[in-house]
Amino acid sequence: MSLSFERFQETLQGAGLLGAFPPDSLPSLVQFSQKMLDWNKSLNLTRWTQDEDFLRYHLLDSAYAVPLAKDLLPGPARWLDLGTGCGFPGVVLAAADPHREVALLDSVAKKTKALDDCLQGTGWKAQTLTGRAEDLGRDPMAREALDGVSARAVADLPVVLEYALPLLRVGGYLVNWMTADQLSEEASAQGALETLQGRIVQRVPYSLPGLSQPRVLLVVEKLGKTPEAFPRAVGVPSKKPL
Ligand code: SAH
Repeated sequence: MSLSFERFQETLQGAGLLGAFPPDSLPSLVQFSQKMLDWNKSLNLTRWTQDEDFLRYHLLDSAYAVPLAKDLLPGPARWLDLGTGCGFPGVVLAAADPHREVALLDSVAKKTKALDDCLQGTGWKAQTLTGRAEDLGRDPMAREALDGVSARAVADLPVVLEYALPLLRVGGYLVNWMTADQLSEEASAQGALETLQGRIVQRVPYSLPGLSQPRVLLVVEKLGKTPEAFPRAVGVPSKKPL
C-alpha cells in the first residue's frame, strides 16, 4: 500500500480545501509523501508512519492554513517553516503557491537531509536550512527579512514567539498551530507579546475528521522592530521563557 492520489484528493475535497490547491500541486505532494514515508522506515522521522495518519495529521492538518496564508500574504511572499521536522506544514504551503518561497528550518541534520531528497523534482520554491532559530534570528541576512513564519508542534507559545518574531519584518505574520488545550498558553504569552511587539490578530478554528477536539491556527502580527537582545542565546528561550 502507498498513499494514493485519489485518497488525498478525496480528503481535501471532504474538508472543502481542494480548490485552494493548483491541480498540478497534488501529484507532487503525494510523491513527496511517499518518499518521506519510505525515509521514515530507516530514519524514524515522524510518528505518523501509516498512510492514513500521514494524510490526516501531516497533509490535511497543514492544508487548513493554505487559504489563511493566501489571505494574510496574497503576493509573492518569503516564508519560513520553523522546526519543520519532516516538512510540515512548510511543504504544503510551498506546494499550494508556486510563487511562495519557503525555507524549511530544522536543527536536526538527518531531517533536512531526508527533506532535500524528497524535495527533488517537486518544482516548489522550497529549500532546507539546518540550524537553530536562535542563531538565524541573529543573522543579519535573515533577521526581520521574512513575510511569514509557520510553526507546528515546536514549543510553547512564548518560546515560539521568541524564535519567530525576530525573523519577521514589521507587518509580517506568524501562524502557530494549537490544540484547544494549548490555548491557555495565550495567557502566559502576554509578556513575550509585549516584549517582542507581537499581537494576536486571528484565531482560526478547525477540526480534523474523526477527532472531536477543536484546533486553532493562531495568527500573530509583528507590530514593531524586535529589540536587539532577542532572540537570546541557543537554549535560553526554552529554558527561561519570556
Ligand atoms: N513541524 C513538524 C515537526 C514538529 S517536532 C510537525 O509538526 O510535524 C519539532 C521540530 O522542531 C523538531 O524536528 C526539532 O528538531 C525542531 N526544533 C525545535 N527547536 C528548534 C530550534 N530552536 N531551531 C530549529 N529547529 C528546532
